[in-house]
Amino acid sequence: MAQTLLASTYLGALDRCDRCGAQAYVRAVLAAGELLFCAHHGREYGEKLSRDALLVEDNSSVLRSSSGSAAA
Ligand SMILES: [Zn+2]
Repeated sequence: MAQTLLASTYLGALDRCDRCGAQAYVRAVLAAGELLFCAHHGREYGEKLSRDALLVEDNSSVLRSSSGSAAA
């Protein structure tokens, strides 16, 4: 992981993915509590989260907009 934090967001450098420990960019609020995911795992679980979570805040667009070369 060699990402540099360029923009401060509501998910900060201290917020970590619950799966892999990378910096979190996706916050999912479930009935049982709150989960944080990195951009990778946010995508991996995004479909499930969109069904199960009460609220999903995807902040990973800051990665795409700052790199400019992530278009698939
Ligand atoms: Zn992760």
